[in-house]
Amino acid sequence: MKTARVLCEEPPGKAIASRPVSSPSLAPAPEPVSLPKLTIAPRAKSSFRVSVRSAEFLRRYYPDATISEWNDWRWQNRNRVRTLAELQRMITLSDEENDAVKRHAGALPVGITPYYASLLDPLDAGQALRKTVVPVLGEYQLTRGENEDPLGEDSHSPVPGLVHRYPDRVLLLVTNFCSVYCRYCTRARMVGSAGERSVKKADIELALDYIEQTPVVRDVLISGGDPLSLDDDRLEYILGRLRKIKHVEFVRIGSKQPVVQPMRITKSLRQILKRHHPLWMSLHFTHPDELTPEVAEACGRMADAGIPLGSQTVLLKGVNDDLETLRKLMHGLLKIRVRPYYLYQCDPISGSTHFRTPVSRGVELIRGLRGHTTGYAVPTFVVDAPDGGGKIPISPDYAVGYENDDLLLKSYDGGTYRYPDSGPPLIIADGAHS
Ligand code: SF4
Repeated sequence: MKTARVLCEEPPGKAIASRPVSSPSLAPAPEPVSLPKLTIAPRAKSSFRVSVRSAEFLRRYYPDATISEWNDWRWQNRNRVRTLAELQRMITLSDEENDAVKRHAGALPVGITPYYASLLDPLDAGQALRKTVVPVLGEYQLTRGENEDPLGEDSHSPVPGLVHRYPDRVLLLVTNFCSVYCRYCTRARMVGSAGERSVKKADIELALDYIEQTPVVRDVLISGGDPLSLDDDRLEYILGRLRKIKHVEFVRIGSKQPVVQPMRITKSLRQILKRHHPLWMSLHFTHPDELTPEVAEACGRMADAGIPLGSQTVLLKGVNDDLETLRKLMHGLLKIRVRPYYLYQCDPISGSTHFRTPVSRGVELIRGLRGHTTGYAVPTFVVDAPDGGGKIPISPDYAVGYENDDLLLKSYDGGTYRYPDSGPPLIIADGAHS
Protein backbone atom coordinates (compact mmCIF):
# COMPACT_ATOMS: atom_id res chain seq x y z
CA MET A 1 0.00 0.00 0.00
CA LYS A 2 1.34 3.37 -0.95
CA THR A 3 1.16 6.47 1.17
CA ALA A 4 0.20 9.75 -0.37
CA ARG A 5 -0.49 13.16 1.03
CA VAL A 6 -4.04 14.40 1.02
CA LEU A 7 -5.28 17.96 1.03
CA CYS A 8 -7.99 18.01 3.66
CA GLU A 9 -10.22 21.02 3.20
CA GLU A 10 -7.50 23.38 4.19
CA PRO A 11 -7.04 26.77 2.61
CA PRO A 12 -3.78 27.35 0.71
CA GLY A 13 -0.68 27.27 2.82
CA LYS A 14 -2.12 25.05 5.53
CA ALA A 15 -0.57 21.75 6.59
CA ILE A 16 -1.09 18.67 4.49
CA ALA A 17 -1.95 15.43 6.27
CA SER A 18 -0.54 12.00 5.50
CA ARG A 19 -3.02 9.33 4.60
CA PRO A 20 -2.80 5.94 2.88
CA VAL A 21 -4.29 5.69 -0.59
CA SER A 22 -5.04 2.22 -1.87
CA SER A 23 -5.35 2.96 -5.56
CA PRO A 24 -2.34 2.67 -7.87
CA SER A 25 -0.06 5.64 -8.18
CA LEU A 26 -0.52 8.10 -11.01
CA ALA A 27 1.58 6.54 -13.74
CA PRO A 28 3.28 8.68 -16.34
CA ALA A 29 0.95 10.12 -18.94
CA PRO A 30 1.19 8.79 -22.50
CA GLU A 31 2.61 12.08 -23.67
CA PRO A 32 4.28 13.98 -20.87
CA VAL A 33 3.37 17.62 -20.75
CA SER A 34 5.05 20.39 -18.83
CA LEU A 35 3.10 21.02 -15.67
CA PRO A 36 2.16 24.53 -14.68
CA LYS A 37 2.40 25.41 -11.02
CA LEU A 38 -0.57 24.06 -9.07
CA THR A 39 -2.74 26.85 -7.81
CA ILE A 40 -5.26 26.01 -5.16
CA ALA A 41 -8.25 28.28 -5.31
CA PRO A 42 -9.66 29.83 -2.15
CA ARG A 43 -11.68 27.37 -0.11
CA ALA A 44 -14.13 25.73 -2.48
CA LYS A 45 -17.84 26.27 -1.85
CA SER A 46 -18.37 22.59 -1.26
CA SER A 47 -15.29 22.42 1.01
CA PHE A 48 -14.55 19.00 -0.36
CA ARG A 49 -11.29 17.28 0.21
CA VAL A 50 -9.02 16.77 -2.80
CA SER A 51 -6.41 14.04 -2.77
CA VAL A 52 -2.93 14.63 -4.12
CA ARG A 53 -3.82 12.23 -6.94
CA SER A 54 -6.77 14.39 -7.98
CA ALA A 55 -4.77 17.60 -7.65
CA GLU A 56 -1.97 16.24 -9.84
CA PHE A 57 -4.42 14.93 -12.39
CA LEU A 58 -6.14 18.30 -12.54
CA ARG A 59 -2.84 20.09 -12.99
CA ARG A 60 -1.78 17.74 -15.76
CA TYR A 61 -4.97 17.53 -17.81
CA TYR A 62 -7.00 20.61 -16.90
CA PRO A 63 -4.28 23.17 -16.22
CA ASP A 64 -6.64 26.12 -16.55
CA ALA A 65 -9.14 24.80 -14.01
CA THR A 66 -9.05 25.49 -10.29
CA ILE A 67 -9.55 23.16 -7.34
CA SER A 68 -12.83 24.96 -6.80
CA GLU A 69 -13.98 23.99 -10.30
CA TRP A 70 -12.78 20.42 -9.80
CA ASN A 71 -14.97 20.29 -6.70
CA ASP A 72 -18.02 21.43 -8.63
CA TRP A 73 -20.00 18.42 -9.81
CA ARG A 74 -21.37 20.37 -12.75
CA TRP A 75 -17.82 21.10 -13.89
CA GLN A 76 -17.13 17.37 -13.59
CA ASN A 77 -20.11 16.64 -15.83
CA ARG A 78 -19.16 19.27 -18.39
CA ASN A 79 -15.63 17.93 -18.61
CA ARG A 80 -16.36 14.23 -18.84
CA VAL A 81 -14.14 12.11 -21.06
CA ARG A 82 -16.43 11.28 -23.98
CA THR A 83 -14.35 10.80 -27.12
CA LEU A 84 -11.56 8.64 -28.42
CA ALA A 85 -9.27 11.67 -28.61
CA GLU A 86 -9.95 12.60 -24.98
CA LEU A 87 -9.30 9.03 -23.85
CA GLN A 88 -6.09 8.91 -25.85
CA ARG A 89 -4.92 12.12 -24.23
CA MET A 90 -5.05 10.46 -20.79
CA ILE A 91 -4.63 6.76 -21.43
CA THR A 92 -2.40 4.63 -23.63
CA LEU A 93 -5.20 2.60 -25.19
CA SER A 94 -4.61 -1.01 -26.21
CA ASP A 95 -5.42 -1.82 -29.84
CA GLU A 96 -8.51 -3.61 -28.63
CA GLU A 97 -9.77 -0.67 -26.58
CA ASN A 98 -9.03 1.65 -29.45
CA ASP A 99 -11.04 -0.46 -31.92
CA ALA A 100 -13.90 -0.94 -29.47
CA VAL A 101 -14.28 2.80 -28.84
CA LYS A 102 -14.15 3.54 -32.58
CA ARG A 103 -16.80 0.95 -33.29
CA HIS A 104 -19.27 2.13 -30.67
CA ALA A 105 -22.62 3.60 -31.65
CA GLY A 106 -25.89 4.10 -29.77
CA ALA A 107 -26.58 3.78 -26.06
CA LEU A 108 -24.00 3.23 -23.31
CA PRO A 109 -21.44 5.61 -24.77
CA VAL A 110 -18.08 6.26 -23.15
CA GLY A 111 -18.48 8.69 -20.27
CA ILE A 112 -15.97 9.13 -17.45
CA THR A 113 -15.76 12.03 -15.00
CA PRO A 114 -12.34 13.63 -14.65
CA TYR A 115 -12.40 12.54 -10.99
CA TYR A 116 -12.95 8.87 -11.93
CA ALA A 117 -10.48 9.13 -14.82
CA SER A 118 -7.87 10.10 -12.23
CA LEU A 119 -8.27 6.63 -10.71
CA LEU A 120 -7.52 4.82 -13.97
CA ASP A 121 -4.10 3.40 -14.69
CA PRO A 122 -3.03 5.09 -17.95
CA LEU A 123 -0.68 2.27 -18.90
CA ASP A 124 -2.39 -0.93 -17.77
CA ALA A 125 -5.39 -2.07 -19.81
CA GLY A 126 -5.83 -4.90 -17.29
CA GLN A 127 -6.46 -2.56 -14.35
CA ALA A 128 -9.76 -3.43 -12.72
CA LEU A 129 -11.37 0.02 -12.79
CA ARG A 130 -10.26 0.66 -16.34
CA LYS A 131 -11.98 -2.55 -17.49
CA THR A 132 -15.27 -1.29 -16.08
CA VAL A 133 -15.38 1.99 -18.03
CA VAL A 134 -13.30 1.58 -21.19
CA PRO A 135 -14.98 -0.58 -23.86
CA VAL A 136 -13.35 -3.71 -25.28
CA LEU A 137 -14.35 -5.80 -28.29
CA GLY A 138 -16.11 -8.35 -26.07
CA GLU A 139 -19.02 -5.88 -25.94
CA TYR A 140 -19.83 -6.77 -29.52
CA GLN A 141 -19.97 -10.55 -28.99
CA LEU A 142 -23.38 -11.99 -28.32
CA THR A 143 -23.62 -15.38 -26.60
CA ARG A 144 -26.40 -17.73 -25.51
CA GLY A 145 -29.10 -16.22 -23.33
CA GLU A 146 -27.92 -12.64 -23.67
CA ASN A 147 -30.27 -9.87 -24.65
CA GLU A 148 -30.85 -6.15 -24.32
CA ASP A 149 -33.38 -6.41 -21.50
CA PRO A 150 -32.48 -9.59 -19.62
CA LEU A 151 -34.63 -8.76 -16.59
CA GLY A 152 -37.73 -8.22 -18.69
CA GLU A 153 -38.14 -4.73 -17.22
CA ASP A 154 -39.85 -3.35 -20.29
CA SER A 155 -42.59 -5.98 -20.05
CA HIS A 156 -43.31 -5.04 -16.40
CA SER A 157 -43.66 -1.37 -17.17
CA PRO A 158 -47.26 -0.11 -16.88
CA VAL A 159 -46.17 3.45 -17.80
CA PRO A 160 -42.89 4.69 -19.28
CA GLY A 161 -40.08 4.98 -16.73
CA LEU A 162 -41.69 2.76 -14.11
CA VAL A 163 -41.19 -0.96 -13.46
CA HIS A 164 -43.73 -2.72 -11.27
CA ARG A 165 -42.42 -6.24 -10.81
CA TYR A 166 -42.81 -6.98 -7.10
CA PRO A 167 -46.21 -6.60 -5.42
CA ASP A 168 -45.49 -3.77 -2.96
CA ARG A 169 -42.72 -1.76 -4.58
CA VAL A 170 -41.77 -0.08 -7.82
CA LEU A 171 -38.68 1.07 -9.64
CA LEU A 172 -38.89 4.68 -10.81
CA LEU A 173 -36.45 5.53 -13.61
CA VAL A 174 -36.03 9.29 -13.54
CA THR A 175 -33.16 9.80 -15.98
CA ASN A 176 -31.08 7.93 -18.50
CA PHE A 177 -28.00 10.02 -17.71
CA CYS A 178 -24.99 8.78 -15.75
CA SER A 179 -21.77 10.67 -15.16
CA VAL A 180 -19.86 7.46 -15.78
CA TYR A 181 -21.10 4.62 -17.97
CA CYS A 182 -20.29 1.15 -16.64
CA ARG A 183 -19.63 -1.28 -19.47
CA TYR A 184 -21.68 -4.03 -17.76
CA CYS A 185 -24.77 -1.90 -17.11
CA THR A 186 -28.03 -3.83 -16.90
CA ARG A 187 -29.77 -0.87 -18.55
CA ALA A 188 -27.18 -0.56 -21.31
CA ARG A 189 -30.09 -0.47 -23.74
CA MET A 190 -31.24 2.90 -22.45
CA VAL A 191 -28.54 4.75 -20.50
CA GLY A 192 -26.77 7.48 -22.39
CA SER A 193 -29.07 7.07 -25.38
CA ALA A 194 -30.67 9.79 -27.48
CA GLY A 195 -28.61 12.74 -26.34
CA GLU A 196 -28.46 11.37 -22.80
CA ARG A 197 -31.11 13.39 -20.95
CA SER A 198 -34.08 12.06 -22.82
CA VAL A 199 -36.46 11.04 -20.02
CA LYS A 200 -39.38 13.40 -20.46
CA LYS A 201 -40.84 15.32 -17.53
CA ALA A 202 -44.29 14.29 -18.73
CA ASP A 203 -43.29 10.63 -18.38
CA ILE A 204 -42.10 11.18 -14.83
CA GLU A 205 -45.47 12.81 -14.07
CA LEU A 206 -47.25 9.77 -15.49
CA ALA A 207 -45.12 7.48 -13.34
CA LEU A 208 -45.78 9.57 -10.21
CA ASP A 209 -49.50 9.53 -11.01
CA TYR A 210 -49.36 5.73 -11.33
CA ILE A 211 -47.76 5.46 -7.88
CA GLU A 212 -50.36 7.83 -6.46
CA GLN A 213 -53.17 5.71 -7.87
CA THR A 214 -51.70 2.36 -6.79
CA PRO A 215 -52.14 1.97 -3.01
CA VAL A 216 -50.23 -1.33 -2.80
CA VAL A 217 -46.99 0.53 -3.54
CA ARG A 218 -45.33 1.21 -0.18
CA ASP A 219 -41.70 1.39 -1.36
CA VAL A 220 -40.23 3.34 -4.29
CA LEU A 221 -36.70 2.79 -5.54
CA ILE A 222 -35.57 5.82 -7.55
CA SER A 223 -33.01 4.85 -10.15
CA GLY A 224 -32.13 5.52 -13.78
CA GLY A 225 -29.47 6.30 -15.05
CA ASP A 226 -28.33 8.00 -11.93
CA PRO A 227 -30.94 10.01 -9.98
CA LEU A 228 -28.29 12.05 -8.16
CA SER A 229 -27.24 13.41 -11.55
CA LEU A 230 -30.47 15.43 -11.55
CA ASP A 231 -30.37 19.03 -10.41
CA ASP A 232 -31.35 19.65 -6.81
CA ASP A 233 -34.67 21.27 -7.78
CA ARG A 234 -35.76 18.35 -9.90
CA LEU A 235 -34.79 15.82 -7.26
CA GLU A 236 -36.54 17.79 -4.55
CA TYR A 237 -39.69 17.94 -6.68
CA ILE A 238 -39.74 14.17 -7.22
CA LEU A 239 -39.02 13.38 -3.57
CA GLY A 240 -41.64 15.91 -2.48
CA ARG A 241 -44.29 14.37 -4.73
CA LEU A 242 -43.52 10.91 -3.39
CA ARG A 243 -43.58 12.06 0.22
CA LYS A 244 -47.07 13.49 -0.27
CA ILE A 245 -48.38 10.05 -1.23
CA LYS A 246 -49.67 8.55 1.99
CA HIS A 247 -49.15 4.89 1.08
CA VAL A 248 -45.48 5.41 0.13
CA GLU A 249 -43.74 4.53 3.39
CA PHE A 250 -40.22 4.37 2.20
CA VAL A 251 -38.02 5.81 -0.55
CA ARG A 252 -34.69 4.47 -1.75
CA ILE A 253 -32.22 5.99 -4.16
CA GLY A 254 -29.82 3.84 -6.18
CA SER A 255 -26.72 5.79 -7.22
CA LYS A 256 -23.08 5.58 -8.24
CA GLN A 257 -22.59 9.36 -8.07
CA PRO A 258 -20.88 9.37 -4.66
CA VAL A 259 -18.35 6.91 -6.13
CA VAL A 260 -17.67 8.53 -9.50
CA GLN A 261 -18.35 12.13 -8.52
CA PRO A 262 -18.16 12.39 -4.73
CA MET A 263 -18.32 16.20 -4.88
CA ARG A 264 -22.01 15.78 -5.83
CA ILE A 265 -22.72 15.27 -2.13
CA THR A 266 -23.09 18.98 -1.45
CA LYS A 267 -24.61 20.61 1.59
CA SER A 268 -27.74 21.55 -0.34
CA LEU A 269 -28.20 18.00 -1.62
CA ARG A 270 -27.86 16.62 1.89
CA GLN A 271 -30.45 19.09 3.14
CA ILE A 272 -32.88 17.96 0.45
CA LEU A 273 -32.35 14.31 1.27
CA LYS A 274 -32.75 14.98 4.99
CA ARG A 275 -36.11 16.63 4.37
CA HIS A 276 -37.49 13.42 2.88
CA HIS A 277 -36.70 10.77 5.46
CA PRO A 278 -37.11 7.83 5.76
CA LEU A 279 -34.76 7.69 2.81
CA TRP A 280 -32.21 4.98 2.18
CA MET A 281 -29.40 4.88 -0.32
CA SER A 282 -27.97 1.95 -2.31
CA LEU A 283 -24.52 2.82 -3.59
CA HIS A 284 -22.88 1.04 -6.46
CA PHE A 285 -19.28 0.01 -5.64
CA THR A 286 -17.11 -2.29 -7.70
CA HIS A 287 -13.57 -2.38 -6.40
CA PRO A 288 -11.53 -1.24 -3.38
CA ASP A 289 -9.67 1.26 -5.58
CA GLU A 290 -12.88 3.29 -5.48
CA LEU A 291 -12.54 3.80 -1.73
CA THR A 292 -10.68 7.09 -1.90
CA PRO A 293 -10.55 9.82 0.75
CA GLU A 294 -13.04 11.79 -1.35
CA VAL A 295 -15.53 8.91 -1.40
CA ALA A 296 -15.06 8.35 2.33
CA GLU A 297 -15.89 12.03 2.84
CA ALA A 298 -19.03 11.80 0.67
CA CYS A 299 -20.30 8.71 2.47
CA GLY A 300 -19.51 10.16 5.88
CA ARG A 301 -21.52 13.27 5.05
CA MET A 302 -24.52 11.22 3.93
CA ALA A 303 -24.31 9.01 7.01
CA ASP A 304 -24.17 12.14 9.17
CA ALA A 305 -27.36 13.26 7.43
CA GLY A 306 -29.02 10.13 8.81
CA ILE A 307 -29.13 8.24 5.52
CA PRO A 308 -28.60 4.49 5.90
CA LEU A 309 -26.10 3.43 3.23
CA GLY A 310 -25.96 0.00 1.60
CA SER A 311 -23.74 -1.16 -1.22
CA GLN A 312 -24.48 -3.09 -4.38
CA THR A 313 -21.64 -4.76 -6.22
CA VAL A 314 -21.75 -6.64 -9.50
CA LEU A 315 -19.44 -9.64 -9.57
CA LEU A 316 -17.16 -9.13 -12.56
CA LYS A 317 -14.56 -11.44 -14.06
CA GLY A 318 -11.04 -10.08 -13.69
CA VAL A 319 -12.29 -7.09 -11.72
CA ASN A 320 -13.47 -8.26 -8.31
CA ASP A 321 -13.93 -12.04 -8.58
CA ASP A 322 -11.19 -12.99 -6.15
CA LEU A 323 -11.56 -13.30 -2.42
CA GLU A 324 -8.85 -10.86 -1.45
CA THR A 325 -10.30 -8.06 -3.60
CA LEU A 326 -13.83 -8.71 -2.42
CA ARG A 327 -12.85 -8.89 1.24
CA LYS A 328 -10.88 -5.67 0.93
CA LEU A 329 -13.88 -3.97 -0.69
CA MET A 330 -16.34 -5.17 1.95
CA HIS A 331 -14.06 -4.25 4.85
CA GLY A 332 -13.36 -0.87 3.26
CA LEU A 333 -17.08 -0.21 2.86
CA LEU A 334 -17.74 -0.82 6.54
CA LYS A 335 -14.96 1.62 7.38
CA ILE A 336 -16.73 4.36 5.42
CA ARG A 337 -20.09 3.48 7.01
CA VAL A 338 -21.59 1.59 4.07
CA ARG A 339 -23.16 -1.80 4.79
CA PRO A 340 -22.46 -4.39 2.06
CA TYR A 341 -25.93 -5.34 0.83
CA TYR A 342 -26.03 -7.22 -2.48
CA LEU A 343 -23.42 -9.02 -4.54
CA TYR A 344 -25.02 -9.47 -7.96
CA GLN A 345 -24.36 -12.15 -10.50
CA CYS A 346 -23.70 -10.12 -13.65
CA ASP A 347 -26.88 -9.94 -15.74
CA PRO A 348 -26.72 -11.50 -19.21
CA ILE A 349 -26.93 -8.24 -21.12
CA SER A 350 -25.78 -8.35 -24.72
CA GLY A 351 -21.98 -8.48 -24.91
CA SER A 352 -21.37 -9.33 -21.26
CA THR A 353 -19.61 -12.70 -21.57
CA HIS A 354 -16.22 -11.20 -20.85
CA PHE A 355 -17.56 -9.93 -17.52
CA ARG A 356 -19.63 -12.90 -16.41
CA THR A 357 -18.34 -15.50 -13.94
CA PRO A 358 -19.99 -18.88 -13.33
CA VAL A 359 -22.64 -18.63 -10.59
CA SER A 360 -20.58 -21.15 -8.59
CA ARG A 361 -17.81 -18.54 -8.30
CA GLY A 362 -20.12 -16.21 -6.41
CA VAL A 363 -21.12 -19.01 -4.03
CA GLU A 364 -17.44 -19.86 -3.45
CA LEU A 365 -16.67 -16.23 -2.66
CA ILE A 366 -19.52 -15.99 -0.16
CA ARG A 367 -18.26 -19.21 1.44
CA GLY A 368 -14.88 -17.51 1.75
CA LEU A 369 -16.40 -14.56 3.57
CA ARG A 370 -19.17 -16.05 5.72
CA GLY A 371 -17.81 -16.89 9.15
CA HIS A 372 -14.32 -15.82 8.18
CA THR A 373 -15.12 -12.18 8.72
CA THR A 374 -17.69 -9.87 10.30
CA GLY A 375 -21.24 -10.78 9.32
CA TYR A 376 -21.92 -7.16 8.33
CA ALA A 377 -19.19 -7.52 5.70
CA VAL A 378 -20.98 -10.38 3.94
CA PRO A 379 -23.42 -9.27 1.22
CA THR A 380 -26.25 -11.44 -0.06
CA PHE A 381 -25.31 -13.05 -3.35
CA VAL A 382 -28.23 -12.89 -5.78
CA VAL A 383 -29.09 -13.77 -9.33
CA ASP A 384 -31.60 -11.35 -10.77
CA ALA A 385 -33.63 -13.96 -12.60
CA PRO A 386 -34.07 -13.35 -16.34
CA ASP A 387 -37.53 -12.39 -17.58
CA GLY A 388 -38.65 -10.73 -14.38
CA GLY A 389 -38.19 -13.48 -11.79
CA GLY A 390 -36.66 -11.00 -9.36
CA LYS A 391 -33.63 -11.34 -7.12
CA ILE A 392 -33.04 -14.91 -6.04
CA PRO A 393 -30.50 -15.40 -3.24
CA ILE A 394 -28.00 -18.20 -3.67
CA SER A 395 -25.88 -19.25 -0.73
CA PRO A 396 -23.57 -22.09 0.13
CA ASP A 397 -25.38 -25.06 1.66
CA TYR A 398 -24.68 -25.13 5.37
CA ALA A 399 -27.58 -27.45 6.20
CA VAL A 400 -26.47 -30.85 4.96
CA GLY A 401 -29.19 -33.27 6.06
CA TYR A 402 -30.88 -34.99 8.98
CA GLU A 403 -29.91 -37.81 11.27
CA ASN A 404 -32.92 -38.96 13.25
CA ASP A 405 -34.36 -35.60 14.39
CA ASP A 406 -31.06 -33.80 14.35
CA LEU A 407 -30.35 -31.28 11.62
CA LEU A 408 -26.74 -31.64 10.49
CA LEU A 409 -24.99 -28.34 9.91
CA LYS A 410 -21.61 -27.55 8.40
CA SER A 411 -19.76 -24.67 10.02
CA TYR A 412 -17.68 -22.12 8.12
CA ASP A 413 -14.49 -24.05 8.93
CA GLY A 414 -15.82 -27.44 7.80
CA GLY A 415 -16.92 -28.91 11.16
CA THR A 416 -20.25 -30.79 11.41
CA TYR A 417 -22.70 -29.89 14.16
CA ARG A 418 -26.12 -31.18 15.22
CA TYR A 419 -29.15 -29.14 16.06
CA PRO A 420 -32.10 -30.86 17.77
CA ASP A 421 -34.76 -29.75 15.31
CA SER A 422 -38.43 -30.01 16.11
CA GLY A 423 -39.54 -30.34 12.47
CA PRO A 424 -41.16 -30.23 10.03
CA PRO A 425 -37.88 -31.13 8.35
CA LEU A 426 -36.07 -28.57 6.30
CA ILE A 427 -35.94 -29.40 2.62
CA ILE A 428 -32.25 -29.63 1.82
CA ALA A 429 -31.16 -28.52 -1.65
CA ASP A 430 -30.69 -32.04 -3.02
CA GLY A 431 -33.95 -33.17 -1.46
CA ALA A 432 -32.12 -35.36 1.09
CA HIS A 433 -33.99 -35.34 4.37
CA SER A 434 -35.16 -38.09 6.58
S1 SF4 B 1 -24.10 4.02 -12.89
FE1 SF4 B 1 -25.65 2.40 -12.89
S2 SF4 B 1 -27.14 2.99 -14.44
FE2 SF4 B 1 -25.26 4.19 -14.80
S3 SF4 B 1 -24.09 3.00 -16.28
FE3 SF4 B 1 -23.36 2.41 -14.25
S4 SF4 B 1 -24.61 0.60 -13.75
FE4 SF4 B 1 -25.65 1.67 -15.44
